[in-house]
Amino acid sequence: MIVQPPEKTCQRCGILQPLTRFTFRKAEQTYRGTCKDCRAAESRARRRDPELGQIIREREEVRNRTRREDIKRWHREHPENLRPGRQRRQARRQAQRAALKPSPDPYTYQPLLGPFQAVLPPKKRGRPPKSDRGSASPVPSSSRP
Ligand SMILES: [Zn+2]
Repeated sequence: MIVQPPEKTCQRCGILQPLTRFTFRKAEQTYRGTCKDCRAAESRARRRDPELGQIIREREEVRNRTRREDIKRWHREHPENLRPGRQRRQARRQAQRAALKPSPDPYTYQPLLGPFQAVLPPKKRGRPPKSDRGSASPVPSSSRP
C-alpha cells in the first residue's frame, strides 16, 4: 500500500494543504491536483458565464425534473429507508389519517384530508400491483455505486 503524504500543493493556487482539501478519485486511487476551493471557484466562474451558465442551468432543470420522479418512486418503494424525520412525519400523518377513517360518510371527513393528500402517492401510473407495499423487501438497492 502506497503511503500518501498528509499534505499536497495545489497546482492552481500553489498553497500547501491537507489532503482532505483535495477530491479523492476512487477510480484512479489518487487525489486531484487542484484543491476543492479552486475547483469550486472554477465552477462558480463557469456558472457566471452568460452562455455556459445558461446551458448548465437548463441541463440541471431537465435532470431535476426526471430525478424528482425517480426519488419519489424510490421512497414509495423503500419506506423503510426514510430518514428519521420523514419517518416521524409519515407516522404522524398515518395516525391522523387512521383517526379520521372511522367516519362512515366520506363527504364529512374528506375535506379534512386536504392537507395530507398532497403527501399520498399519486393514484396514477407506476404503482406496483402488489398489495403488501408496506412490507417491501428490506434489501436496499446497493448495486448502484
Ligand atoms: Zn487551490
